[in-house]
Amino acid sequence: MLNYDFKMDEVIEKIKEINAKTVGLQFPEGLKIHAVTTAEIIEKETDAMVLISGDPCFGACDVSDNHMEGMVDLIIHFGHIEFPIDYKVPVLFIEAYSKINVMDTVKKSLEFLEEYQKIGLVTTIQHLHLLDEIKNFLTENGKKVLLNEGSGTRAGQVLGCNFSSIKNISADAFLYVGSGNFHALGITLFTEKQVIIADPYMNEVRNINEFRDRILRIRFAKITKAKEARKFGIIVSSKRGQLRLELAKSIKNMINKQRKEAFIIMMDNISPDVLLPYMDLDSFVVTACPRVAIDDANMYKKPLLTPKELEIVLGKREWEDYKIDEIEHI
Ligand code: SF4
Repeated sequence: MLNYDFKMDEVIEKIKEINAKTVGLQFPEGLKIHAVTTAEIIEKETDAMVLISGDPCFGACDVSDNHMEGMVDLIIHFGHIEFPIDYKVPVLFIEAYSKINVMDTVKKSLEFLEEYQKIGLVTTIQHLHLLDEIKNFLTENGKKVLLNEGSGTRAGQVLGCNFSSIKNISADAFLYVGSGNFHALGITLFTEKQVIIADPYMNEVRNINEFRDRILRIRFAKITKAKEARKFGIIVSSKRGQLRLELAKSIKNMINKQRKEAFIIMMDNISPDVLLPYMDLDSFVVTACPRVAIDDANMYKKPLLTPKELEIVLGKREWEDYKIDEIEHI
């Protein structure tokens, strides 16, 4: 637990307060390595027995209350903030702030932001507690920093499927503080603006342009291939934070109107193995997590599309008007 604050005092207090006998623990993939240590502390400090969720988890869209209902008195879900969903089991969300020093990398980003005046500042939940410090630093160095709350997200926070916090920001460029390309790609596809990444884990500053262009070339190829499809699978997720059945139904109608076939398939986790029995379908439209089609594209034999990409395939949207898919109810 060196690099994250799991707020164990709050966790222990909550378990004791409700006298929980069995507690479910759920961590996103990157934090699962801390599950056993966390379980050890809980079982030592309280009378509760711990049940660790071993299933993949990538967001608060995927709380394991469906699986743990009737088995646990409380679920502790680490690493995400709550979605507006009625959970079937009491859930304590622990945001798990990273303890990594971000300021050294943020300081380096000034060179990349030289030509921009109005900066949209964006990060994930792990670094939200540092936004004031980052904002002050940028302001002291002559930048105007723009921050907004989103619908279901805090000021400056984005999810891979929700960019509402930057929707109305008229920034010249965005500074994303965090790891990887996943969120920065979403920001640039959503805003079409320059995104500079200050990655404190690599202590590196870079722009997203080359990565974005590579992803867009792949998307163009998948969309082109899907234009030949006669039979589509429409994937619906049973994870409640990703469930968009009405959208799936409207997509089925839209495809049928073009005299093509479409079949709705419900599943929990989407993977190449799970799709193997459906290889008589030519292409799949994913109404579940919007990032599966984009970020895992090369794992799949058949083209996976987002609902907005399907509109291009069916001639209802131009490629030049490419938009990233969002889950709007979050
Ligand atoms: S739907 Fe996908 S992008 Fe959105 S929170 Fe869940 S895992 Fe993340």
